[in-house]
Amino acid sequence: MIDTHCHLDVPRFEGDREEVLRRAWAAGLTGIVVPAIGPDSWEALLEWPRRDARIQVGLGIHPQLLPELNAADDDAHLARLDELLSRGGAIAVGECGLDGPSETGAPMERQLRVFDAHVKLARKHRLPLLVHCHRAHPHLLRYLKTEAIPEAGLLMHSYSGSADLTPKYVKAGCHFSFAGPVSFLEARRPIEALKVIPLDRLMVETDAPDQAPHPHRGERNEPAHLPLIADALERALNQPLRETLLANTKRFFRIT
Ligand SMILES: [Zn+2]
Repeated sequence: MIDTHCHLDVPRFEGDREEVLRRAWAAGLTGIVVPAIGPDSWEALLEWPRRDARIQVGLGIHPQLLPELNAADDDAHLARLDELLSRGGAIAVGECGLDGPSETGAPMERQLRVFDAHVKLARKHRLPLLVHCHRAHPHLLRYLKTEAIPEAGLLMHSYSGSADLTPKYVKAGCHFSFAGPVSFLEARRPIEALKVIPLDRLMVETDAPDQAPHPHRGERNEPAHLPLIADALERALNQPLRETLLANTKRFFRIT
């Protein structure tokens, strides 16, 4: 089982990262994808897969970080991202995307410009794209009407779209990764969405340290909780999915 989205590099794992990793491998995980949040972590993250090939990284700028970055520096950051991707070592471009609540600090126009640059970089470097879209679906769907997804694929991480939005993303060729909320007792929307997604487009993630699955809701999340999310998907679709999820993840990220 591979965790397709885990922020293992954030300070909340500073004190016990090795323990967290030990628990993840003991829980049966064989890989973890760590998507960068912003420029400060890119170089350090590129070292991680060299130390342990089970950990792979994506490089990008999270839309929730944009309010903290000076807009005048966007182009310089994106040029550096291009240069780092050219060196190799990253398995994906991201995290990137659109975030409705961040609009007050980073207008949607700027978010779209930065996101579009990530799409172009994914295409240029032939890498898949890891996308955050929170309360910004109309913007993303409008964008996808004029711009095709990168050839290597696009993964909607911690997917939260409704069942009527989902077919539009399916049609655009997107993949979907589900996180803790699919396991919540009152979960309706993610389960409805799940039912209209082709099985070969499905993946799972923890999004740790956030979004811990039931019964750890509210606690710091960690990759060892990934089986709880896969269990929730299997319950919702009433069939075993472990092999399908793993095959989808390996194919999407080109992990051998
Ligand atoms: Zn994330």
